[in-house]
Amino acid sequence: MKYKAIIAKMTLEEKASLMSGKDFWTTQELEEHQIPTIYLADGPHGIRKQAAKSDNIGLNASIPATCYPTAATVANSWNVELAEEIGVHLGKEAKSQRVNVLLGPGTNIKRNPLCGRNFEYFSEDPLLAGKMSAAYIRGIQSTGISACLKHYVANNQEFRRMAIDSIIDERTLREIYLTPFRIGIKEGKLKCLMTSYNKVNGFYTNENQHLMLDVLRKDWKYDGVVVTDWGGSNDRVKGLEAMSTLEMPSPGGQTNKEIIEAVNSGLIKESLLDENVDRLLTLIFDTEKAFAGDTQEFDQEEHHRFAQRVAEESIVLLKNENSALPLNNQEKVAIIGDFAKKPRYQGAGSSIVNPTKLDNTIEINDEFNLNYIGFEQGYNRYGKFSKKLTNKAIDLAKKAETILLYIGLDEYSEAEGLDREHMNLPSNQLVLLDELSKLGKKLIVVLSCGSAVLMNFADKVDAIVHTYLSGQAGAKATMSVLTGKVNPSGKLSETIPLNYEDVSTANYFPGKEVTAEYREGLFVGYRYFDTVKKTVKYPFGFGLSYTDFAYSNLKVTPNEISFNIKNIGDRAGAEVAQVYISALESKVYRPLKELKAFKKVMLEPKEEKEVVIKITEDAFSFFNIETMKWEVEELDYQILVGSSSQNIRLRETLKVPGVKLNPKLSKVELPSYFTGDVQNLEKAEFATLLGREVPDANFSFYKKNRLLVDYNTTVAQLRYAKGFTGRFVARFVRFLVKYYHFLGKHETANILIMGIMHLPVRGLSRMSGAKISWGQLQGMMLMFNGKFFKGLRLYLKESKNKRKK
Ligand code: BGC
Repeated sequence: MKYKAIIAKMTLEEKASLMSGKDFWTTQELEEHQIPTIYLADGPHGIRKQAAKSDNIGLNASIPATCYPTAATVANSWNVELAEEIGVHLGKEAKSQRVNVLLGPGTNIKRNPLCGRNFEYFSEDPLLAGKMSAAYIRGIQSTGISACLKHYVANNQEFRRMAIDSIIDERTLREIYLTPFRIGIKEGKLKCLMTSYNKVNGFYTNENQHLMLDVLRKDWKYDGVVVTDWGGSNDRVKGLEAMSTLEMPSPGGQTNKEIIEAVNSGLIKESLLDENVDRLLTLIFDTEKAFAGDTQEFDQEEHHRFAQRVAEESIVLLKNENSALPLNNQEKVAIIGDFAKKPRYQGAGSSIVNPTKLDNTIEINDEFNLNYIGFEQGYNRYGKFSKKLTNKAIDLAKKAETILLYIGLDEYSEAEGLDREHMNLPSNQLVLLDELSKLGKKLIVVLSCGSAVLMNFADKVDAIVHTYLSGQAGAKATMSVLTGKVNPSGKLSETIPLNYEDVSTANYFPGKEVTAEYREGLFVGYRYFDTVKKTVKYPFGFGLSYTDFAYSNLKVTPNEISFNIKNIGDRAGAEVAQVYISALESKVYRPLKELKAFKKVMLEPKEEKEVVIKITEDAFSFFNIETMKWEVEELDYQILVGSSSQNIRLRETLKVPGVKLNPKLSKVELPSYFTGDVQNLEKAEFATLLGREVPDANFSFYKKNRLLVDYNTTVAQLRYAKGFTGRFVARFVRFLVKYYHFLGKHETANILIMGIMHLPVRGLSRMSGAKISWGQLQGMMLMFNGKFFKGLRLYLKESKNKRKK
């Protein structure tokens, strides 16, 4: 232990007090031991430090900070050096606001396109997500503060996120969901990790000894701090036993007592507490050094320009028929779409940044020498159809040669705390697109949204520029791409399917009651589409450029892959070369191909470069559940080099030595997994994969639509409570959500869904910093469970006790 001497002087009470926050964002200080408080702040794409009153859900504005493109956007750059630079910029800004721990990046896998928080995550692929995470972490931590990788793990839906139990087989867990964390932690030398709200295989992640001890501490040798997601602590003592260091936010001191009792009764050893305290002190003292000496200012203008560069590298050109783009300065251009004036540039929820400035297309377009003839709003942002707006847009479009149509999802449809209901763009926007396409003009779609949407409109337009959520400087970045000042080089970090029903998880997402069954196993994203050869709209890794690239001369050895890329066009540009590996003859089930390396290469016109990629045995290994180890199977592997998962340009076979397998689970036991045909998988086959019975997915009612309320019952679930008080609370919250939607206050409605509706009742006390004491909550629980008077008496008694204190 590093801080043994200090810890030896501390009382049990003092140690326990360090194990949870002082308030919403800071840790407890202990002046007599010279232990300062430290500040933790969101978030992944800009600093959200609330200026005055703190709250979790972003009601109170935060200090202005640069809003960079979100993770979903940056992943499209496939540029790890750039990601590291973002980290440095974030770190500098965090330092300038005296933030010790930046709560990001988020690296959960995009298991399904409808997960409401996909805009905040990198990819459907664990390697890409892991490499990007590690780069952010290195960048952030190079400034002396700490990053906080989140949300560990399998938090892949927002619906019932604080209660849902993700049921996943061990191999899928390791290869898909844990891999980005493993890479982030190891290659980023992470100092702080945030556990997720959900359970995995029956246990809250924060208490899950397998995830927290076997995997994190033993296999990965992680030595840093683990913090709960805000309000994600279920049982503080069980959390400590799993070496979860810090509970956030402050539960108002309530859990200190539990820790003290656990030590006094011998349930946990004091040395275990000491170890956790030592880890926290390490984080505190390490990050505090960042504030010594030098000035903490940052250059806002430079950061804004950098945000623009990040967006420029991340924008994806999906279609460019007959070289519709770049625009020339002669063609008469009409700009249509609300998003051109009021950009959609970031997501919603805890990651909301109050930007230092915000560019919009209408104000900046004169810097780009466009033959601009005017702007029309075109549609109502929140979906209401307006004939008037459509007609005005058509009138303007008639005068133009080229229409730039800015469409996408509004800020309330991609938000933390709720999943999207479908993958379509709002129908009023699609109607407008349809009408404009009939005019026979050049029609260019500029799309803003943080996740995959259906693009069956593509045939009606000449070009599609997908900007994702491109941050506060996104407007200029987009214009740079449209006018050819910048040659686009982004490639999709997720698949765009033809239809939602095509997605491997469509039948399993979201888990609605107790569990979310990950029946699809390893077949997430392109791993599924490519294996079963299902047509997609735009494949993983796809993106166009204004130039072309030729690949040649592939050479492979067990340690190195090399090949040449040549820019065969007449513009400078960058290509993202992707290396996939295919193990066709494997004895265990495998997706057809898996990404194992990638490299972004910048090339002048006609320039050719040799790309050399070192590979380790990691590239060939799989997680063997029989030995519980990563192993390489002795096989002939296909090395595939492509410009997307479906455009393989070079291939070579390599024999790799390794173990010979005779697995217990073969084609006979797991037929669907061996073909990849996992969309309608029988429960029995999933049970075979899991190696145990599949737990009950539904609420257990003791009689029709009635359940026993416990501390983990969510507020929404109270609709099934025995007591009318519970049912009333649930109905009232539902009513409020509907009411706010009716008033057009969608943000407030979303906040209610995120912060109250899916909150387990324990959160009413813990998340309120004990404004409702644990005793009062017990009274409320009795009422929820039908013992109204007994509950009320207890509630009143506890209220009196609270007042006395
Ligand atoms: C989110 C975290 C965030 C935390 C603090 C939670 O609701 O899941 O990502 O860092 O709040 O705002």
